[in-house]
Amino acid sequence: MKFAAQLESTHMRTSRAGFHRGIAPTFNCAVCGRRTRPVDSDTCCAECWELAGQDNYHNDNACGPTPKELAYYESLVAVAVAKGGDADAIRAQNPYIWANPDAPE
Ligand SMILES: [Zn+2]
Repeated sequence: MKFAAQLESTHMRTSRAGFHRGIAPTFNCAVCGRRTRPVDSDTCCAECWELAGQDNYHNDNACGPTPKELAYYESLVAVAVAKGGDADAIRAQNPYIWANPDAPE
């Protein structure tokens, strides 16, 4: 019992040591422009990073998002916008999720 408690304590310390919040400097997301800290990427925020991966998936598979997927992507946009991000810039950056109506066929 005591040993298990020690293991848990060690794990907690390791997790905290690896956590960047409060240490890494902030920067402006290269996609939506909001202030963020490095999470998965040093150039864009967590939401834009996730959307970039999803956009790549739709490009690779030559398919648009399902309604359920689109709802998830819109929820990521809403999070970024709530933190100061630009929704139009996010949609423009992910053309395989949000087809650009001005783009030629
Ligand atoms: Zn962003």
